[in-house]
Amino acid sequence: MIRKNGSPLPPSDILAKLTIEDLEIKGKRVFVRADFNVPIDENLKITDDRRIRSTLPTINYAIDEGARVILASHLGRPKGKREPRFSLAPIAKRLQRLLDKDVLFTEDCIGQKVENSIAKMKDGDVLLLENLRFYPGEEKNDEDFAKALSQIADFYINDAFGAAHRAHASTVGIPKFLPSAAGFLLKKEIEYLKGVVINPIRPFLAILGGAKVSGKIGVLENLVDKVNKVIVGGGMAFTFIRAMGYEIGDSLVEADMLDFANRLREKLIESKVKFYLPVDCVIAQSMEPGAETKIVTTQEIPKGWRALDIGPASVRLFSEAIQDVKTIIWNGPMGVFEIDAFSRGTYAIAHSVADAYALTIVGGGDTDLAVHKAGVSDSISFISTGGGASLQLLEGKELPGIAALTDKKKE
Ligand code: AMP
Repeated sequence: MIRKNGSPLPPSDILAKLTIEDLEIKGKRVFVRADFNVPIDENLKITDDRRIRSTLPTINYAIDEGARVILASHLGRPKGKREPRFSLAPIAKRLQRLLDKDVLFTEDCIGQKVENSIAKMKDGDVLLLENLRFYPGEEKNDEDFAKALSQIADFYINDAFGAAHRAHASTVGIPKFLPSAAGFLLKKEIEYLKGVVINPIRPFLAILGGAKVSGKIGVLENLVDKVNKVIVGGGMAFTFIRAMGYEIGDSLVEADMLDFANRLREKLIESKVKFYLPVDCVIAQSMEPGAETKIVTTQEIPKGWRALDIGPASVRLFSEAIQDVKTIIWNGPMGVFEIDAFSRGTYAIAHSVADAYALTIVGGGDTDLAVHKAGVSDSISFISTGGGASLQLLEGKELPGIAALTDKKKE
């Protein structure tokens, strides 16, 4: 498709699937697969409900349209068995508060009792099913289980971006039996994460961090010829630095990734991509919170010490590189940000990204948490709700949960 002045592709071309707005859902039973896999503490209290909140636009739309809304999700890893600590009952309570209306909860997700409850629903009612993973058929994508789930509804909506990279009964199984469409969250995730890679406003910068190169190979390979700049921080940077021949003490290194790191660096430079690695780092002899720390250049990491964060000179360098770009994708922390002593690099970069005059997209998981802890979530254009799913999109791969939805007819 020919595009003028880098304007984004029309969203419909990116998703190419039906969305909830394409369906006539009034009076119909609508099965909404959501991602309510939120952190819950030992007292069964939800400690972070952002994943629930991010599906509210879809739920509210379905209520307003007069659908009978059947919500379903997984929570934790109960491995096909009924385990009270993974019950969705606390989610029903929270939803009730967030929606400001009754949310019926069924103690199962299939079976006669569930069918009876659904039969009593009126237009605009909301019901939440019990954890899908209490059945082994969910993760095994068992056809009979998917069929049983499909029989309680007329339409299927997937709004569970965080589970869209999994081929489970509730993500790819049910759409075989029902007209299926994307919810608003799923649509938004695809528009941002896929849209930006296909058609970024330039200069386009990818910031990658986290523990291992091996976890981000696919992303690096896919982005090499699409980006203008790459910043690599976090533990994975030290495989690149080791590959250049420097001693890195006890810092993280993946011996089997050294050749890959060198080849990638050469390819980036050949492709005229500006490639940045940390120039200094915060080192310690152990990861203990009270351990003695020092700041050294990456060329001078002593034996017995390990790099656990980027240093102040790297923060300045990276922040300079961030200043003039128009699009930023960030996935992976710059250091062990879970420990205060090694969190400053990640938080400083979070502030630089948030301050940039750019479209800023943060990948899910750790980076989402880091941005939240840095207090800059509101200044980021888009924060993905899916860790694994967002990585797969950045790798240029198709997500099974999206491929399974009904295709949008070409006009
Ligand atoms: P990932 O899941 O690959 O994005 O990795 C995230 C994890 O990488 C976080 O838990 C960080 O603590 C860890 N991490 C970041 N930088 C380092 C480092 N320099 N050394 C060891 N672990 C790190």
